[in-house]
Amino acid sequence: MKRRRLHRSRRVAAYLWVAPVTLVGLVLALVALAGGGQARWVEGQLEVAGARRLRSFGRWPQVRHFGAITLGHVILGRDHATLARWRRHEQVHVRQYERWGVLFWPLYLAASGWCWLRGRDAYLDNPFEIEARQTDGA
Ligand SMILES: [Zn+2]
Repeated sequence: MKRRRLHRSRRVAAYLWVAPVTLVGLVLALVALAGGGQARWVEGQLEVAGARRLRSFGRWPQVRHFGAITLGHVILGRDHATLARWRRHEQVHVRQYERWGVLFWPLYLAASGWCWLRGRDAYLDNPFEIEARQTDGA
């Protein structure tokens, strides 16, 4: 019982620590829902997919890798099949948000910038993405 209470306290702390980013995700989730998206609560995260803009975003040539994006405890994706395929990967990003909180964005951007300056791919060689790929089982 005491262990369960401690676990619950840690989960609440994790949600609060990431709340500012999750709030941004919730705003975008509302926009996606207004554009025809559907929301599901999956394993502690809100997944939103199917909105017209999310589907068309993935077709832009500049956005080669877009299948889903994680903003705190909100995951936005093109469609629910894509979210299911990327779920483990995006959940690694959720854990990264829980580790770094609001610092995750500047750290992620700095890591991408550092990769780019060294002539590497700002997305594929970003250590946060490498961790997600190594952990997601893909
Ligand atoms: Zn990723």
